[in-house]
Amino acid sequence: MRPLERRVRTLARGMAELLLPRACAVCRQLLDARVVGLVCQTCWARCENFPEPVCRRCGHPRQSLPGVALTANSDTDHTGDGFATCRWCPRLPPVVRALRSASRLDSGTAGAIVHALKYGRWSGVADEMGARMARLAFPDDVVSERVALVPIPLASARERERGFNQSVLLARAVSRHWDIPVWPDILQRTRETRSQTRLTPSERASNVSGAFVARHTMKERLRGAHLVLVDDVITTAATLNAAAQALTLGGARILSYLTFGRAPDAGDRSFHASDPD
Ligand SMILES: [Zn+2]
Ligand SMILES: [Zn+2]
Repeated sequence: MRPLERRVRTLARGMAELLLPRACAVCRQLLDARVVGLVCQTCWARCENFPEPVCRRCGHPRQSLPGVALTANSDTDHTGDGFATCRWCPRLPPVVRALRSASRLDSGTAGAIVHALKYGRWSGVADEMGARMARLAFPDDVVSERVALVPIPLASARERERGFNQSVLLARAVSRHWDIPVWPDILQRTRETRSQTRLTPSERASNVSGAFVARHTMKERLRGAHLVLVDDVITTAATLNAAAQALTLGGARILSYLTFGRAPDAGDRSFHASDPD
């Protein structure tokens, strides 16, 4: 698609979002006239939460830990038992303080919302997704320390094709609620990477390893900072971890992650067992 044609289409879609989005962007059911936004209440209700108790660091349901008794003080246990016994946490490098995701991706509705944003070009959905992401409870120290949101950059060819970066839209939406800035230019992709969809966890890690670098011109801003990396979904954490490494090399002190969706873990039986579907 030529740039002008793409811009016209994006503009037309933007106007359509304003003027006639009376069908849900996900399920196509007609929206009640009182609904503000592009996704119906039924679809939002179908997005699944993480069943409590969750790991205070990575947000993963703690009931999925085989044979591990939950401690009474797990709510306040950031780095002791909750960290050491969580099966998901080892995927995050020590520099990551906390991870939160708004919805599980198992039933498909949350994935369809992400799809509407990325491929359906319903960019207005980002505001609703971001509002839900902004409501997630992070540990107090994250709330007091976080200085900026950093969206994961797309490969430039993909961004040219899509016309926008969904992570930037989500970060901007969260920023309006958290009242901290978005730093969309601090990370750069150093090379194109293959789509992660069909790769194994180890292939994903090597696919994105070294794919990001922090801009030298931003060094002063980065020094000692606690930043929140934003992406649409998290699966193995490979992409976020590669970005975190680049920011740490650039001077950041600590990172937290925020995503809309989180893929279920293949070995995570009770993650599914608690699923009513
Ligand atoms: Zn719907
Ligand atoms: Zn954990």
